Amino acid sequence: MNTPSGIAASRSLRHPEKAHRPDSPILRKPDWLRVKAPASPEYQATRRLMRDLALNTVCEEAACPNIGECWKQKHATVMILGRVCTRACTFCNVATGRPDLLDAHEPGRVAEAVAALGLAHVVVTSVDRDDLDDGGAGHFAQTITAIRVAAPGTTIEVLTPDFLRKDGALETVVAAKPDVFNHNLETVPRLYAEVRPGARYFHSLRLLDQVKRLDPALFTKSGIMVGLGEEKGEVLQVMDDLRTAEVDFLTIGQYLQPTPKHHAIARFVTPDEFRGYAGFAAAKGFLLVSASPLTRSSYHAGDDFARLRVARAAKLAAAG
Ligand code: SF4
Repeated sequence: MNTPSGIAASRSLRHPEKAHRPDSPILRKPDWLRVKAPASPEYQATRRLMRDLALNTVCEEAACPNIGECWKQKHATVMILGRVCTRACTFCNVATGRPDLLDAHEPGRVAEAVAALGLAHVVVTSVDRDDLDDGGAGHFAQTITAIRVAAPGTTIEVLTPDFLRKDGALETVVAAKPDVFNHNLETVPRLYAEVRPGARYFHSLRLLDQVKRLDPALFTKSGIMVGLGEEKGEVLQVMDDLRTAEVDFLTIGQYLQPTPKHHAIARFVTPDEFRGYAGFAAAKGFLLVSASPLTRSSYHAGDDFARLRVARAAKLAAAG
């Protein structure tokens, strides 16, 4: 039923654990966050392909503002392991509740989509699957392997959950040899209990550190959202923590509130402040930083991967 009350009902079903939360009014976006509605034929073609292959994308599930631009260039970020997440992060628009059955054919369909789109670089992410013994790590590995077979020229970036500290999960994904391993810290440690209640800041940080130890050739990447109530000093501390874990690439973008039941936006961080964060991050030694209001983990990921390779080569050359 397409009425306001029908919409409200479907929203609360999509996030049942948020139904009891008080509404926080959604703030009007400043000009720098306004984007055009998706309309291009390429956008429609990407959408059709995802439907035909019964694939989910985080672009749609997270209501990403960049979908018009990314899908016009056929850059879709595939979300594996179903559409339903077993966590209840207060910033996230992905549906929560009882998870879907594992689809053994999904890795093959993802690979088919990557080949059909002719992607130079693909980002694969997932919902959290705390219900699975390996947290979904094996499914990630199968997806990487299937893409390698169907599209051998495509570089692969995974954006993973924390696997709930399940034994061997991280090792399984690293052994499948993605090109980039991304795990987002999402916010500063002080806000974890409110924003990311099922996760632990230092576990996520350790996970990134461990990836680098398991395979130093892998590029590691992490991201945070700002505008959730963090202080500048806390963001700078997160940068230091990530450098301690030898993370190569940092992304910082503005948090946008999906519905009135989600975490309220504390404020809109200005483009100038983002430039300031980018300067600090560069000075702290990240190989690459992307910091802007519309930056998302997978935004321009292909171009950024090329820049990462160049930056590492230059650093190695400088080191003699
Ligand atoms: S930024 Fe990432 S999630 Fe957003 S539309 Fe682009 S590829 Fe999808």
